[in-house]
Amino acid sequence: MKNLIAGNWKLKGSPNLADSYISHLSRIKPDNCIVVVCPTHDLLGYIYDKWSNEFGHLGAQDCFHDDTNYNDGLGTPDEIVSRGAKYIILGHSDRRNKCHETSELVRKKVNLAWNKGLIPIVCVGEESGDRKGNLTQIVVNGQIADSIDFDNLRGPFVIAYEPVWAIGSGNIPTMEEIGEVHDEIRKLLITLTDETRGGNTPLLYGGSADVQNASSILAVENVNGLLIGGASLNIQTFGTIIDCA
Ligand code: PEP
Repeated sequence: MKNLIAGNWKLKGSPNLADSYISHLSRIKPDNCIVVVCPTHDLLGYIYDKWSNEFGHLGAQDCFHDDTNYNDGLGTPDEIVSRGAKYIILGHSDRRNKCHETSELVRKKVNLAWNKGLIPIVCVGEESGDRKGNLTQIVVNGQIADSIDFDNLRGPFVIAYEPVWAIGSGNIPTMEEIGEVHDEIRKLLITLTDETRGGNTPLLYGGSADVQNASSILAVENVNGLLIGGASLNIQTFGTIIDCA
């Protein structure tokens, strides 16, 4: 499977950053890996007007869970699709922890994203206390089982394993620890779906992934790509990580 390298600009990003991405990606036209760029909703529209499929794909960050009414705040999947997105990051720890989003709510968003033809990148990950208490796999497996409607799968999805304590901290688990979690996620997905689907669902690692550690992480069995926050805010850095992949 090709590696998937996703840049999550979070609430950063700017037209300048977008322009630097477009100019870099138009030169390298990455085809050895799948590149997904996830800016804020307003920048999605800005980028889409200048975007080409050769650059990779656009992704959104989060959406409202219901598209039946006018709602304040978050965009709807329809709006996101109209701005060219193919992927959507859901259940990011910022949403789960800072906005009290439950896995049940994430599941509603995943279902809605599928209805609109988007591919959800579902984020899961343990807090440092969970890891110290040997609860990592219980937390991660529970978030996966509850965030995705495995009885009624309606489209492809991606899992991003992002230990909460690793995000933005400069600290990452050891390669062995990443491998253990990813192996267990792979087993869980095969159990909850089947060998083909569970075996071919991309499993990304996220949390302080950078040029220094990208190659080592990508070499771990059952790691099929990276979700990159801070290091995606500079196209040189992000471009080097694409090269590693
Ligand atoms: C993220 O916020 O999803 C993330 C992975 O951030 P960082 O790479 O900065 O740790």
